Amino acid sequence: MENKLPKVLIIDDDKFLLNMYSIKFSKNGFEVNSASSGEEALGKIKEGYAPDIVLLDIVMPGMDGFEILDNLKKNNLVPNAMIIMLTNQGQLADIEKAKSFGINGYIIKATTIPSEVVEEVERIYNLQKKTEVKQ
Ligand SMILES: [Mg+2]
Repeated sequence: MENKLPKVLIIDDDKFLLNMYSIKFSKNGFEVNSASSGEEALGKIKEGYAPDIVLLDIVMPGMDGFEILDNLKKNNLVPNAMIIMLTNQGQLADIEKAKSFGINGYIIKATTIPSEVVEEVERIYNLQKKTEVKQ
């Protein structure tokens, strides 16, 4: 059986967090790519980078997470990726808005330590994989 590392694209304007999560996911068996803006992320995707998982911040200068989400979904840019919000926006309105785009998960950074973020992403990813096998 082919055993490829899951490819995760982390989008966050906070360089410290971006670096920290990149290291954490790399150490846990993911192939990591990162972008500090929506423009950079969409550029990578349009050049052919196809992540299995997109971790998406909401509050960012330039395009915010919702605009990126809208762009990804409307143009079907990552049809095979699961999209998980990784944000400090914990308001129900933000969660509902993100869910309306058809996301796969929502993690609040402030209340989730990095190792738990990795565990939650793995849980969502494995759940989805199982579902795909069943279908
Ligand atoms: Mg941010």
